[in-house]
Amino acid sequence: MTHSLHPILSEWPHCANRPLKLQVTNSGIASLHRGHPWLYAERIKEEPSQGQPGDLAVVFDGKKKFVAVGLYDPFSPIRMRALRASKPGPIDRDFFADRIAKALARRLPLLKTKTDGYRMIHGESDGMSGMVIDRYAKTAVVKLYTHAWLPHLYDCLDCLLEQQPLDRIVLRMSRGMKQHPEHLRGLEDGQIIYGEPISETLTCRENGLYFEVDPIYGQKTGFFLDQRDNRARVETLSKGKRVLNVFSYNGGFSLAAARGGAIEVTSIDQSGPALESSKRNFALNAEVSAIAATRHLTIEDDAFKALAELVKQGKKYEVVIIDPPAFAVRRSQVKDALNAYGRLAQLGVNLLAPDGDIVLASCSKPVSPEDFRHTVCAAAERAGRPWREITETSHALDHPLDFADGRYLKCIFATA
Ligand code: SAH
Repeated sequence: MTHSLHPILSEWPHCANRPLKLQVTNSGIASLHRGHPWLYAERIKEEPSQGQPGDLAVVFDGKKKFVAVGLYDPFSPIRMRALRASKPGPIDRDFFADRIAKALARRLPLLKTKTDGYRMIHGESDGMSGMVIDRYAKTAVVKLYTHAWLPHLYDCLDCLLEQQPLDRIVLRMSRGMKQHPEHLRGLEDGQIIYGEPISETLTCRENGLYFEVDPIYGQKTGFFLDQRDNRARVETLSKGKRVLNVFSYNGGFSLAAARGGAIEVTSIDQSGPALESSKRNFALNAEVSAIAATRHLTIEDDAFKALAELVKQGKKYEVVIIDPPAFAVRRSQVKDALNAYGRLAQLGVNLLAPDGDIVLASCSKPVSPEDFRHTVCAAAERAGRPWREITETSHALDHPLDFADGRYLKCIFATA
């Protein structure tokens, strides 16, 4: 079957027939042998003179034995993203169909949970390095991190549509890709590459809760799908409580707390539109009596400032959730990020009623789980509220961690 994907995709120039042969250093070969899919430029001894993004590239060892084959990208410091390692085989439509089928099968348990907003393809961990596909009901959002997928996108999405009926596919691209628009052949970030334009508000369901989603301009691909399990956990903590949700975005944690029976939820975010969206999400779920009964307050301000102000006012909450944006994307930012997490932990415990629950998350990839835990626990202790019953959660089922370097989300639940 063929689907009416945007003609730019079906007309994309084909890749070279023969894979590029890359001469790779021993450390590069060792890393590919270990199953790491990224081959950095500095590990290539001699750069091929002609490679185009998306050409297949193959690596052999000193004994001419196959090591890996993947997609080449001359514009990225990650020159090749391996798709197959140790055993050779074609990279073609059937290969993509198989990877997609395996990824979708892993997500089947979610379909029993009234959830139609989830990640269908989680890049490296689903064997599709550099590509993420999120689903919001009948709309999919493909986020690419490399030009190398563009020549293969038609095949991939045609396979996806065959396995998963969808109304629409939106294309999002990484900052790195947008820096080379000359290689996009007119494709734009946020472009609808399959199906009709979005004419009314798009919604998805997470454990039965409805959320509006903006896959074109929204943060990430429109919603923070990765916090689903942590939100469900917050729901179980919230009965009869006053809950503070800091960095609330469109109210994911706030809605979960409300359905869990919170009497009052305060959402803090510096973005007015995000708070407006959280209010609309409360309205969308007003048929749930617990949600209709919750008083939802919003504070539009910088979180650090707002928290200090609430401390000054002597406010107390039985549940405090702090889920900030990434404070570090590079190693050099880790120290400042840890300082910020420490300050948030301190402000958070100062607002916590006795025996309250605090939830602190970090999506800063370079910050290790150990450093994060140590920093926030130490800050709470300095504030005179040492934590008990600490639980740390990891990635949800649709954000698998087969690729260990892909771990970014850390979340601590503690009582103090
Ligand atoms: N907790 C959310 C996701 C948070 S995303 C969820 O469950 O979906 C980070 C949010 O922090 C964004 O909405 C952004 O607008 C907000 N933000 C970033 N910096 C901020 C700051 N200094 N003060 C308050 N909000 C901030």
